[in-house]
Amino acid sequence: MAEPFTFVVDADGVLRLAPRRSEHVVCAGGEAVLSAGEMSFREEPGQWTVEEVSNQSTGYCPDVSSWPAVAKALDRIGIARPSGFTHEVVFRGCRSCRELNIVREEDFICVFCGEDLPRRWNVTERDR
Ligand SMILES: [Zn+2]
Repeated sequence: MAEPFTFVVDADGVLRLAPRRSEHVVCAGGEAVLSAGEMSFREEPGQWTVEEVSNQSTGYCPDVSSWPAVAKALDRIGIARPSGFTHEVVFRGCRSCRELNIVREEDFICVFCGEDLPRRWNVTERDR
């Protein structure tokens, strides 16, 4: 499998790819982009296909619900794709200590301070 790329879907719905290690923003929030994450491709005869795609982006921490923007951006440029993220990352900001958490196995507890994490994605609210 090829090295994955980082991607963003910008505010105009355009897919932008970059080499994986080019991302250094720290959770800027999801507002500037429609989605972001990592993506790898495989080539089939006459057709590029997304092999794996995730919303794993420590730059933007997008919600898993951003998938439709990714699907639309890929459809627009004719790249075959799966029906959803092949790997989903659940980002939540803690309202108590304000740390960013990656929720695993539906365990909505802050790993830093033990407070409950909100069920709804809230990364853009984190610093307000
Ligand atoms: Zn906390």
